[in-house]
Amino acid sequence: MAFVKKQVDVTPIEDTVFAIVKLAKQAIMEKGEDAVVNATIGSLYGEDGRIVAYDSVFGPYDRIKKEVKAAYAASFTGNESYRKQVYEWVCGDNKLHLAHSVIATAGGSGAVSIAINEMLDEGQTLVIPKIAWGSYALMASMHNVAVTSYELFDGDRFHLRDFERVCREVMEKQHKLLVVINDPCHNPTGYSMSMAEWKQVIGFLNELSALGDVVILNDVAYIDYAYQKDARAYLSVLNEMNAHVMCIVAFSCSKTLTSYGLRCGAALLLAKDAAQVREVEIVFEKMARSLWSNIPNAAMENFTYVTTIGKDAFLQEKQEYVELLRKRSACFIEEAEACALPCYPYKEGFFVTVKMPDNQTRDRFHEALMKQDIYTVKVNTGIRVAICSLPLKKCEGLAKRMKEIYVQV
Ligand code: PLP
Repeated sequence: MAFVKKQVDVTPIEDTVFAIVKLAKQAIMEKGEDAVVNATIGSLYGEDGRIVAYDSVFGPYDRIKKEVKAAYAASFTGNESYRKQVYEWVCGDNKLHLAHSVIATAGGSGAVSIAINEMLDEGQTLVIPKIAWGSYALMASMHNVAVTSYELFDGDRFHLRDFERVCREVMEKQHKLLVVINDPCHNPTGYSMSMAEWKQVIGFLNELSALGDVVILNDVAYIDYAYQKDARAYLSVLNEMNAHVMCIVAFSCSKTLTSYGLRCGAALLLAKDAAQVREVEIVFEKMARSLWSNIPNAAMENFTYVTTIGKDAFLQEKQEYVELLRKRSACFIEEAEACALPCYPYKEGFFVTVKMPDNQTRDRFHEALMKQDIYTVKVNTGIRVAICSLPLKKCEGLAKRMKEIYVQV
């Protein structure tokens, strides 16, 4: 007997993160805060061990009239001021000569999910990186879409050859390509591609589009926590996309504003041809209407306020945490280099990932770490260390401790 539809996978979500978070909390209760390293939580936490909630974001939010909070948003695509402001915010100083539209979504997750659902037919294949945010594969599976993956690194660089190989293979099979590029500040490695790498990717995808249409799903969830001065400069390379290539940029207010609970984000559609953008906009609007109807009015209004009138205060407050992330990551990476604990090439962002030769070794290492009260998250051939929530004093000496445990597994 089965009440749910036949095509759906009924195995429960293997929530590796929350299970370990629970264990870490239990260990803290038993042994005290100082005895435990909890590097599991993927949200931004301060040095006081509390989630960061910016005054420059939640001050204005609290001042929004209750009637504005109560009201439905004006449309299924999102409030006009929000849509306009997301475009301005995401593009920054880059002048894009592309047709565009913005659809408000339920977090960055909403943007990624509707893109996977609506750009591929059931049974087609989505291309993602080998080490990636787990939700991509889950979303694909819920939409009856298969997944294949490209090797992310060739040494310390983006593995262009494998990216090309996998994209070509999928394109030859289905004459359509949807490929996820989670950049900048890739989750979970902290890698950001260079301009040259982006140019090569766009050049290749232009060429590949002779065989079928190409959609790049550029997940920029962590873009506002990049250390480089102009993390958005690569967007200008998108001007080189030909008429058969589209880019959907998935933007997350959760990360940018530390407002994870407000469920606000956007899909920014970019392509040469306005008619093509309009077609996707229509489909995404219908999808939004059918899934979440509309996005919290106050969340959109607040984003617009914080990134315009409140911009200076917000940028100043956010920068303090960018600097904190920089300190925490530098501490971990420098110590890892000193003791030869192998890490994936980290440049910026919320996570550092220790490189594992295979998943069996990873599992043993992960267990051994927990025995020493170091709680981390397993990812494909890696151990994710969430420096975003780990106070600096807990980062100190951590790589060395991890290395000592690693040599024993
Ligand atoms: N993309 C990546 C890589 C993420 O890690 C996350 C959240 O963890 C998201 C997108 C979506 O976040 P949200 O739906 O809260 O905007």
